[in-house]
Amino acid sequence: CGIVGYIGSKQAQNLLIEGLGKLEYRGYDSAGLAVYNGETIGIQKTEGRLSRLGERLNVQSLPGSLGIGHTRWATHGKPSDQNSHPHTDQTGRFAIVHNGIIENYIELKEELTAKGHVFESETDSEVVAKLLADLWDGDLVSTVQKAVARLSGAYALGIISEFESDKLVAVRQASPLIVGVGEGENFIASDIPAILKHTRNVYILEDGEMAILKADQVTLMKVDGTPVKRDVFRVEWDI
Ligand code: GLU
Repeated sequence: CGIVGYIGSKQAQNLLIEGLGKLEYRGYDSAGLAVYNGETIGIQKTEGRLSRLGERLNVQSLPGSLGIGHTRWATHGKPSDQNSHPHTDQTGRFAIVHNGIIENYIELKEELTAKGHVFESETDSEVVAKLLADLWDGDLVSTVQKAVARLSGAYALGIISEFESDKLVAVRQASPLIVGVGEGENFIASDIPAILKHTRNVYILEDGEMAILKADQVTLMKVDGTPVKRDVFRVEWDI
């Protein structure tokens, strides 16, 4: 029920955990992180509290400066380690976090299973990771656009890929998502408190919009590619 993402030059892991902690008020049953370490995407996820995820990370940390984090409020599939986010494609080259409900996931899951994709969870969300791998056309933004065109329902998505590790892609449809604009670093989050320690400059995404974050640049567009121009919103309040 919470999403946080980071791209920059700091270590992502603790920033993500701290951000997710600020979203605890939204409620959750599981938590997880995906961090790109320069070669591959590492994942740690678990049913239970953020403190449990923290214990796992103490044993096996996730180094790297590009990552996404999630706290889950299960809607499809019981709370379990396997159903926790992030979810990946079979090769582990795409990792996604999702808030909301993909209404047409059964049909997509059947279609992707018939094509050979092997599902590991009972969630609706996992279809997004498999779709990205299935539709991969050599360009992350266009692949995300093609995938999102297949989805119905509500979704805030955070997406990273080994193929384009200079980017974090976010999509919003009927589930809240904001972008935090930093200096040499940028963030996504379901809500402002998650990033307020790092920046007061945010873009509030609207339905049908996506954001492409690089460490030093944020590009907003509609999911059909139409450019979006929006003023930065300056947060004047404190948590
Ligand atoms: N529907 C997804 C699931 O059950 C996401 C739930 C959420 O928003 O946390 O895994």
